[in-house]
Amino acid sequence: MYFDMDDKQLYIETYGCQMNVNDSERIVSMLADVGYQSTTTLKAADLILLNTCSVRGGAEEKVYRRLSNLGALKKKNKRLIIGVGGCVAQQEGQELLNKFPWLDLVFGTHNLHLLTKMVQGAENGEQRCETAFIDNGQRLDLFPPVKGNIRLSSFVTVMQGCDNYCSFCIVPYVRGREISRRSAEILAEVRQLADSGVKEVVLLGQNVNSYGLKTGSEPTFAELIRLVADIDGIRRIRFYTSHPKDISRELIACYSDIPKLCGQIHLPAQSGSDAVLARMNRGYDRTGYLGLIQELKSARPGIAISSDMIVGFPGETEDDFEQTLSLMERVRYMDVFSFAYSPRPGTRAAELGEELGREQKQIRLERLQNLQRRITLELGQSYLGTVQSVMVEGEGKRPGQISGKADSGRFINFLGDKNLIGSFVQVRVIAAYQNSLLGEML
Ligand code: SAM
Ligand code: SF4
Repeated sequence: MYFDMDDKQLYIETYGCQMNVNDSERIVSMLADVGYQSTTTLKAADLILLNTCSVRGGAEEKVYRRLSNLGALKKKNKRLIIGVGGCVAQQEGQELLNKFPWLDLVFGTHNLHLLTKMVQGAENGEQRCETAFIDNGQRLDLFPPVKGNIRLSSFVTVMQGCDNYCSFCIVPYVRGREISRRSAEILAEVRQLADSGVKEVVLLGQNVNSYGLKTGSEPTFAELIRLVADIDGIRRIRFYTSHPKDISRELIACYSDIPKLCGQIHLPAQSGSDAVLARMNRGYDRTGYLGLIQELKSARPGIAISSDMIVGFPGETEDDFEQTLSLMERVRYMDVFSFAYSPRPGTRAAELGEELGREQKQIRLERLQNLQRRITLELGQSYLGTVQSVMVEGEGKRPGQISGKADSGRFINFLGDKNLIGSFVQVRVIAAYQNSLLGEML
């Protein structure tokens, strides 16, 4: 592609979850329309945007440290525009401009559609902060489309926000109430992605299971999956994230009868202890959760299950923690994303105040992670000798290798020609490592 010499350069840094990654893709598309091309070189940038996360204190502190460093660049180049979006922007708003008066833009999680105008204003020296939540009636504006995305696998946001109010979580406060995108819009985006060569879509939302339920006029999430599966060219469907309380029988049934739906589900348990789950306001207990796991395993034998776990939630005893470990042994997760509890301002858990010390949380985290490493490796080894269908996505780890995901989401590296990128091949697994498998193409 040819770009004008006066094309402006956008450097964007993304923190946090896949929703933020997808928002950043939207930002890149929108700003391309007003002459900004993406760069990976900070020093070349005319516009620097941080798309931030505040789900844990550590993530938020990272953003403040980064902003302190960027201040020096701004001093050297007064024309440089610097903006902050995402969850920290939503949470702090004007306060960010008070702390970093040289910042040009602060845009909240519902304000992406204003960004182009805000950047154009900043080019003329205007400083602006927009963090108002939009009500459901205007939900169209929340999802400016991603354009020009021709990767093999693409995120598609189906809903945003959350009404669950888990007691530890800041998401409902910074992402707002649950808003479902119109199915017609989602399906049009998936069709357009399929036409441009995308073969796998990953449907995104903080709680995809409640997609459509509050609109009264949209399909359920399970129906949406069926509609996406009907689109020619789409060969694989995955989704994140599913709340155990809201998973429907109808969705579980999709695993029995929709082959395009990959044999993988992220179903965060957060804890294996009923007492902790109740204090977390999760709305399910250990027995109910294990029942769902059983149903999923029956609907799709061999399904790869992953989870999020929090250690050191206020009041978590050694016995509670051991119940989390025993849940992990029972379920045998493919992956667990584990976090030390971090109190977030304004959440109910932040008022419980019975936190474990940092060191104790760290010890529990390490015990949990050691256990999971063992389970992940054992599950990887259970694939030895099996033949997996792999969507080849790029070059592999070693020279001459190519790689891609199996249906379970696990990465497989194997020797093969780069021309195969974009196609599906059959691969026999010959070795299992912590984070990937090694295979040979048939
Ligand atoms: N909606 C998803 C769900 O309910 O499973 C979770 C979204 S949240 C952005 C991702 C993960 O961050 C959570 O599943 C939880 O494990 C973790 N998390 C959220 N708040 C946290 C906190 N205050 N301290 C530690 N981990 C936290
Ligand atoms: Fe946070 Fe719970 Fe909503 Fe997930 S379901 S985003 S953990 S409040």
